[in-house]
Amino acid sequence: MATQAETGDRFEAQQEKKKLIRRLVPDGSQRIRRAVQWLFVALNAWLGVQFYLWVRFIEHGGTGLSVPRPAGAEGWLPIAGLMNAKYFLLTGRIPAIHPAAMILFIAFLLMSLVLKKAFCSWLCPVGTLSEQLWKLGRKLFKRNLRLPRWIDLPLRGLKYLLLGFFVFILGDMSAEAIQDFMSSPYGLVADVKMLNFFRDIGFTAAIVIGLLVVLSVLIQNFWCRYLCPYGALLGLASLLSPVKIRRDADACIDCGKCARACPANLPVDRLMQIRSVECTSCMACVAACSSQDALQFALPPRQAGTSAERWRKRVISPRVVAGVLACIFFGLVLYAKIAGHWQTNLPREVYMDLVTHASEAVHPDY
Ligand code: SF4
Ligand code: SF4
Repeated sequence: MATQAETGDRFEAQQEKKKLIRRLVPDGSQRIRRAVQWLFVALNAWLGVQFYLWVRFIEHGGTGLSVPRPAGAEGWLPIAGLMNAKYFLLTGRIPAIHPAAMILFIAFLLMSLVLKKAFCSWLCPVGTLSEQLWKLGRKLFKRNLRLPRWIDLPLRGLKYLLLGFFVFILGDMSAEAIQDFMSSPYGLVADVKMLNFFRDIGFTAAIVIGLLVVLSVLIQNFWCRYLCPYGALLGLASLLSPVKIRRDADACIDCGKCARACPANLPVDRLMQIRSVECTSCMACVAACSSQDALQFALPPRQAGTSAERWRKRVISPRVVAGVLACIFFGLVLYAKIAGHWQTNLPREVYMDLVTHASEAVHPDY
């Protein structure tokens, strides 16, 4: 049995261990992440405007301002990306219709395999909008709502149900069925139909979007946390990522700032590593931590005596995250462009006919 003196020694040692050693270099993760987010929003806005101008040009019979069709807009066709990925897996051939949708889908999946769900908090424009909305809510009401666990947990399952639905439908489709679907008028102008959805938005759709906006102001990342099937898929892929948020118990002073900063409500201050599919690699927890070597976005630590040695060359800095995301994104896009797998090459006359009759194109039954 420990004597009073020994217990006292242990207590003192623990106190010593918990002394705050301030971070040597200030954390710049949120500044870098915000810059990457807004650059990607700008890229998407540019693609959106170009796509709109192209549709107008085609609708006006090829008169007026002539702009090429931006294949990058297919990044907004995740289902087409998923279908084409299955086609590629079954046949080994890169599909001719909406190949960019598949290339971008693979790029975002790859990012999740390497850097957890970094796509969601570093690149996705919906994620960026969502983040701005809950920050606005926090400014207006001084806080965001946290749903009780008994509602939060089943609601979080919704996105997997939606993902399961798409995977179930896709599971039944052969390569031929996918090819037929993509070559149908509906498949060919799926992107134009999406644009038309927003151009001629109906009353019900406007109400639903308005409701989602209000809920996103009140609850952090409402869409991403509960409804986004794309995020659900990337979350599952992120389980394989070797990089995780990791806490060093020796350097941690148990202040709880990281958990309070986490938009996914994860108990960062109580876990040694964050395996959760909800972690978006936003690094807000790392930014909130003021203790040197206590919290990192890192590869598994080394076996060593001191915290500094444990994390030497294991930490993934925000600059490296931005660099890896850029390499995967631009690398795959460049490859696809050089290899001729980026554009959907349809003659202008075919687009003239399809785009002007896009509203008549109905979903084929398979
Ligand atoms: S654990 Fe950290 S990186 Fe993951 S979502 Fe929470 S704040 Fe972001
Ligand atoms: S912010 Fe989290 S990891 Fe950092 S010292 Fe506080 S409890 Fe520990």
